[in-house]
Formats: sequence, C-alpha cells, structure tokens
Amino acid sequence: RKKVNGAADAGESPYTMPPEPGDSIGYFIQNKLGVWCKPRNDQWELGKIRSTAGEEATVMLSHGNVITVSRGELLPANTEVLDGVDDLVELSYLNAPSVLHNLQYRYNRDIIYSKSGPVLLAFNPFKDVNIYGNDFVTAYKDNILDNPHVYAVADAAYNDMMKDGENQSIIISGESGSGKTETAKFAMQYLASVGSQNYEMKSKLIQTSCILEAFGNAKTSRNCNSSRFGKLIDIHYNAEGTISSACIQTYLLEKSRVSQLCRGERSYHVFYQICAGAPPALKDMLNLKMSSEYKFLNQSGCLKINGVDDALNFKVLVDAFDTLGISHQDQENVFHLLAAVLWLGNISFAVIDQEEHVELVADEASRTAARLMGCKMDDLKVFLSTNRIHNTAEPLRMQQATDKRDALATFVYESLFNWLMEEVNASLKGGEQHTRHTISILDTYGFESLQKNSLQQLFINYADERLQQHFIRYLCKLEQEEYELEGIHWKKVEFEDNQECLDLFEKKPMGLISILNEDSNSSKATNETFTEKIKRHLSYNICFSCEKGAFRVRHYAREVQYDASEMLEQNSDKLQFDTIQLLSSCKKPLNRSASGLMNQVQTTGQSVGANFMDHLFKLIQQMENSKQHFIRCVKPNTKKLPGIYENDIVWEQLKCSQVMEIVQITKSRYPLRFTHQEFASRFGCILSKNISCMNPLSTSVAILQQHQIPPQIYQAGFTKLFFRGQVDVLENLRQEVL
Ligand code: ADP
Ligand code: MG
Repeated sequence: RKKVNGAADAGESPYTMPPEPGDSIGYFIQNKLGVWCKPRNDQWELGKIRSTAGEEATVMLSHGNVITVSRGELLPANTEVLDGVDDLVELSYLNAPSVLHNLQYRYNRDIIYSKSGPVLLAFNPFKDVNIYGNDFVTAYKDNILDNPHVYAVADAAYNDMMKDGENQSIIISGESGSGKTETAKFAMQYLASVGSQNYEMKSKLIQTSCILEAFGNAKTSRNCNSSRFGKLIDIHYNAEGTISSACIQTYLLEKSRVSQLCRGERSYHVFYQICAGAPPALKDMLNLKMSSEYKFLNQSGCLKINGVDDALNFKVLVDAFDTLGISHQDQENVFHLLAAVLWLGNISFAVIDQEEHVELVADEASRTAARLMGCKMDDLKVFLSTNRIHNTAEPLRMQQATDKRDALATFVYESLFNWLMEEVNASLKGGEQHTRHTISILDTYGFESLQKNSLQQLFINYADERLQQHFIRYLCKLEQEEYELEGIHWKKVEFEDNQECLDLFEKKPMGLISILNEDSNSSKATNETFTEKIKRHLSYNICFSCEKGAFRVRHYAREVQYDASEMLEQNSDKLQFDTIQLLSSCKKPLNRSASGLMNQVQTTGQSVGANFMDHLFKLIQQMENSKQHFIRCVKPNTKKLPGIYENDIVWEQLKCSQVMEIVQITKSRYPLRFTHQEFASRFGCILSKNISCMNPLSTSVAILQQHQIPPQIYQAGFTKLFFRGQVDVLENLRQEVL
C-alpha cells in the first residue's frame, strides 16, 4: 500500500489508501481520473489530470484553470456516483479531501446526519432543518425512512433492547456548541414516543429538559445555550417495551458561574428569566429588581441573548414545574432562593478598624437576602464578617469576606440545583411497574479550553479523555486486538491512543488526581508545594509540563494550560461548620442540604475530585454493561451560523474522533463470527463426509471447502471463524437439509 504524501492538512498522520486494485496515483494519471490537489495552500480542489512529466503533473481544475503540481501532492478522488453517500465506508478512496467533500456535499443539502461506520456524525445546522417531529418519528419507527438520523439511532437502541433483552446506551460527544444537548433531546423525544402509551410520562420527560436548561445552561462565548453540567438520562422500560420510569443524573455543575462571569457571558438562564418574567405579586414578595441591578448578573456586560425571550421562558418554566407536579409551595421556595442568591451578590462590607477588618453592611441587600433564605439578619452578619475558630469569632478582611459571601451564594445555588434534580427524579419515578431494561443517553460536557482553566476544566477534560478512551477502545482497540489474538491476517490500522494522558491522571499512588486529593486533605500542603510535587512526580509523562503556578496537559484534543493557584481549595471545597449551622436554620431545601452535608462530612469527607472519580467510573461501567451507540456531533463553523462549512474546523474534529481510522477498520472488518464449535454444529449437517471423528476446526474448513466459499470472504482464527459478509448460501442449504 502506498502512503500518500503531501496531505498537509491531514496533519502528522497521512492516511493510507484502501487496498483496492490500482490504488496508486499512477493509475489515476494513466486513466486521467479525478484528483484532489491544492493549488493554493489551504483549499483542496477537484481536477482532472491532463498530462504528466517526471515528478510533475498538469491538472485542469473544475472551473477550467490549468495548473502544474508535483505528483506527490495529488490525492485520488472518488467518482461522482459516490457524491454524498450516506456512510463514509462506501467511499472507494478514503482521504481528507474526499471525506470533507462528501460531508460538505450533504451539509449543503441540509443532510446533517451521516454514518462513519458504526458512528453517527451529526452536523450542527444552526437552523431548523424540518426533519423532526411526530411524522418523522413514525417514519423511522415503521422503517419508511432508514437514512442516517438520530431517530434511526434511537430506534436501533430500542429494537436491540427488545430483541436482545440488553441494556442500551447512546453516547453523545463533541465540542461545546456542536449540538450534543439538542441531539440528546431528539433521542429522548423519539424514545418517549415509541415507548410510551402513557401520555403523562411522555410530557414529563420532555418537560424535564426545560427545567434542566433553565438551571444548568448559560450563554458562553461558544454557545448561547451551553450546558454547564454533564448528564445521564436513564429511561427504564418494562417487558412490553413501555416506559416505566426515568432517572436523571447530573455531574460537575459549574458552580463558579454563580458569582464569576467572563465578559460577554451570562449566568444561569433562570436568573434572567425570573427577573424578566415574575408576575408583580411574586416580584413584590421577593423584592425583585431588573437583572441589571444585580452584581452577579451585570458584571459581564451581557444581560440579553439575541432572539431569546427570558420573560416568556419564565412562563414555560413554571408550566414545566406544574407538569412535573412540583407543588406551588416548593416552587415558591425555589424562587425565594434564586432571589436570595442575587441579593447575596449585592451584599457589601465596610472596614471597621485599623487592621482593615470588615463588617457586613446592613442594607436592603443583606436584609432581603437574610429574609429570603429564612435566617436571622444577625446570624448572617456574624457568618459573613467572621470565621469561627474554636468558639472564638475571628474578624475577616475584605477579600475573605467577599469570598465567603460568594461561596455561600454558590452553595445555595448548588443545593437548590441538587434538590430540584431530586424532585424531578421523584416525579419521573412512575408507579409500581417493573423495570426490565434501560436505555441511557449520555450528554457529556465536551472538551474545554478557556482563557483561564481551573479545576472545573481539569475535571471536564479528564472526563472527556476517559470517554475518548472508551470510544476508541470500543471502536478501534478491542476489535483489532481480537484479530491479533486469533492470529488472522490483518493489517493493523494505527490510531491515536490517549492512554498516556489517562495515566497522567489516574496512576496510583502518584497520578495527578491522587496527588490533588492527598494534598487537599493535608493541612501542610499549599498550592506551591502541590505544583512542586506534581512537577517532581509527573514530568516523566510526555503529556505533562509544569510552569510557575500553572501546568500544561497535552490532551487528545489540544494542549491546555491549567491555573494551579487555587486548585487545592477548589478540590477540598470544605464548608466550615458555621455554614452548616447557618443553613440548618434556613428554609427548605437549604436546611435539608445542610443535614445532608453534615452526613457527608461525617461519613466520607471525600474531596470533589475523589467524588467525581467514583461517579465517572460508575458511569463508564454502566456503559460497558450495555450495548453502545455512538453519536459524534460536529460544529461546521465557529461563527454559529447556518450554511458555512469550514474545512479545517471540521477536519480538526474528525481527526479527534478518529473518523478515518474507524471507517478504515469498518471497511475491512469481519462482522460475522462463529467459534469453530458453533460453526461445526450449525453447518455440520450440510457436509457430505462423516464428521464424527473430526475436530471442529477441520469440520468447519471441510464445510467451507466443500461449498466453495471463496477464501477472500473468511478467515479461520485459532478459536473462531471470521466472515466479511453473511453466509446465506450455507444458511439456505442448511434450511433445505433440516
Ligand atoms: P452542545 O450541547 O454540544 O454544547 P447544543 O446542543 O446546545 O450544543 O447546540 C448549540 C446550538 O446549536 C443550539 O442552541 C441550536 O441553536 C443549534 N443546534 C444544535 N443542533 C441542532 C439541530 N439538530 N437543529 C437545529 N439547531 C441545532
Ligand atoms: Mg450541551
């Protein structure tokens, strides 16, 4: 096989060509076939070879220009018949420009879904494409439509569950803004429709998204509706295939967003919704002002999102609460706490002595915050102006007091979020029905690299790295390892393995996470000693480098620099005992989370990192115990606009998802396999020889030879037979004999 050179935008690993006859560029030159070339540095263009001389080729481009390029810079193009095929596996020639062209051909025609072997690629159209809704659900359910679609994936999961009695999972990944959450919603919409005669359950399931998004989504620079948490939705079915209940797990809510915003970004949608949409009576009760009056919201210079009606969305949210059966009393509590968070942000402090100690200012902000939380003004004052150390109250300075105020606001919001998730799950519990099987939909965070990356990004990117390993293990590693073990002839497809980067995080006892957890539990460790320690222990790893107060990790997607200056505090996330005390005197759900916290502190004392690791491993295990369906969302441009397809942006993402490797493995894989034993006993009946004295392998080989099965379509391994396609001939003969 010839390696193709000059595929500059194919990065370091130019892809090899498929093993078809005449696959060298010489063949193309001889037959004057279509080729890709790069007349200018960045764009591939289609042309036809006119003539060649030595190492040079003269190519006529499709718009008529004739250029001369070096032969090494040409890549073979597929015939026009293959333009826009559903599955990249169908392409005869697999190279960057051919794949990009095929996907663009589809994208230009609003065909946003394509297959790359077992993976569904979903391009974000950034506009309505009219391929969703009841009619489409029915069409996919009844197999009237079967082209690539998220509905087709959901349908396959549902059918596989019913047929094989196995749990299923749909794993959705992709960069921020690529369409994961929308895709997850469409998958859920489909699953709710096919599996529910129960109208109430169906509408509840659909309405949960609205609540999750109000409280967990925000405008960021890359997505106006970015999910700031990860989620796994489990939909449980009974033996008849009807939904019996559902459960949503969330993880890693970006808490810091409550008090700190980057320029141009917003806090959680719900804050703007309540400010804009609360009816007058509620506004009075909460002493609610416009969003521009609150420091937590106005600090970023962005209060509105184009085309989004926050006031209307408040009504939609209240409807969703009603549908899920959340009582008016509980809703009122939720609104109290939302307003309390906003007022906490407006609390100020005044310096009271020479040593610059401060005291809470008793004004509208602090009084309203205390009232809304349900605690005494004096308690709040003591809490925010002092730290309790062994029964004495130590006064705080400005920075400490502000930090404490922000931590309190953040904690109130987080408690509210967790409590709401419990309420939602209680509502999705369903009746007495028995659960047989589960379909899970995973909507991950997706890789992140911001200007300043903290512990939050470290965990998000670690989780992404873990899922990436899971993805390539399932699609690239396991299959090829089996061929190798079985000793069959197989040309290995090389792929990027991120094991090294995972080791950096997971190695015990001295991986990044272990060290982080150890140091955040130690009273002696500081952020400086922590950076020193990781430098000492982890510098051997090629994915790691350390600088003053920061370190860099080379992720599979990109290199990211992390700020280490607050990591230990962020990881230990310790709430002082006085926080628990303050909150237990507050109203529901704060008092409840205070007692939950008390238990947690007493029983586990786990750091954020350790907790998250547990969570992540459970999640991966759940995936591994199910049949998996993968969807990769792709962002066709960074402008968030319809109709724009940027080759380099798309290529970056395809490369990260190892699309080429997966397609190549799929093209040459052996999808059907039997152990020799299985094969011999299934097809022994169509063998004319007496087989009683033969071992299963000899029997199998005899069967294949007698019926002249061409050797190109199968291989015999040590314990199994591998087939490229169906063995219909043998099946038919067997039916005749039986
Ligand atoms: P992610 O979850 O990957 O960050 P989202 O699912 O929030 O991305 O998608 C970002 C935005 O892209 C959505 O708010 C929506 O405007 C648009 N979008 C994504 N998928 C679709 C789709 N299938 N059809 C129409 N618009 C979409
Ligand atoms: Mg999302």
